[in-house]
Amino acid sequence: MRWQRVMRTILDFLGLRPRATRAVLSELTPIFSAHSRAEFEAGSKAQIFRELHQTELQIITSMGDRTSYTVSAWCAPCGQCVQMAVDMEFGGHYEDWRERLVCPLCNLNNRQRLVATLLLQRLRSWQTPRRVYVMERVTPFYAWAVKALSNHELIGSEYLGPAYRSGDVVRGVLHEDVTSLSFEEESVDCIVSNDVFEHVPNPVAAFRECFRVLRRGGVMLATMPFDASSDVSITRAEWRNGMVMHRLPAVFHGNPVSSEGSLVFTDFGWDVLDWFRSVGFSVAVIDVYASREYGHFGGGQPVFRLEKQVRRDRTESCGAAIACLLKRGLV
Ligand SMILES: [Zn+2]
Repeated sequence: MRWQRVMRTILDFLGLRPRATRAVLSELTPIFSAHSRAEFEAGSKAQIFRELHQTELQIITSMGDRTSYTVSAWCAPCGQCVQMAVDMEFGGHYEDWRERLVCPLCNLNNRQRLVATLLLQRLRSWQTPRRVYVMERVTPFYAWAVKALSNHELIGSEYLGPAYRSGDVVRGVLHEDVTSLSFEEESVDCIVSNDVFEHVPNPVAAFRECFRVLRRGGVMLATMPFDASSDVSITRAEWRNGMVMHRLPAVFHGNPVSSEGSLVFTDFGWDVLDWFRSVGFSVAVIDVYASREYGHFGGGQPVFRLEKQVRRDRTESCGAAIACLLKRGLV
């Protein structure tokens, strides 16, 4: 079939044909993991980022003046190849790859599909039902999770305002303040937070609370706008005496439960990893993903992975203590 070969060649040239199907797609793994800015900067030099950037440029060039188009790629949450939608929303005159590449079936964008894929991969390794908490309830991500996690216990919540207490159910929607969750200590196996923490006035309190409710051996996967060129986080606004005090011009993101949007309180920099560690997480690392086949463009998509260490058993603890004493010449 000559014409099919010609078509494939053209699509390959334009970067529009996924080079693999599900049968040969391997599990999505990070291009690199960074515990620090130095590791991040070293990892960002990987060849795949240059290759993907070239593909992005080819796609943009081939689309000419079009302000909306689709890119063919594999949606792991849906388990099929789809035409992912790209337009200039969020990016002005440019593609905001992080927020677009929306699957027409699950309606998840690039970063949301990525977290869903990572959650799916973890599900496969779980032999017994787990309790998963996602910090959203009226979104496409939650709708997808209801189906994908049907054999597990899924909790989804929204923040509905200061008039409510965590655990309240308002018109069928669970309200939770992530700085004071209604869940028992060590009662959740996995937490998913998609671009929530920048909207919390006291993000460290939220991190502490997530650590409290997470079971040992559990993990939190989180995305948040992150400035990899800044060592320190910037507080844009504060919550004082029941009022918002602005330090910088107000920035709002979309809010599924309010047309007014969500105010951004913090622009996160590298010290956010220290904040996660300070509340007890034994692993606080940024995994960076990029994949043509899975439709993860945009120069590397970071996902924060926070793990709570499994409690060491007494034998292991005694062994470690004796080894420490021997090392010091005390026994
Ligand atoms: Zn999908």
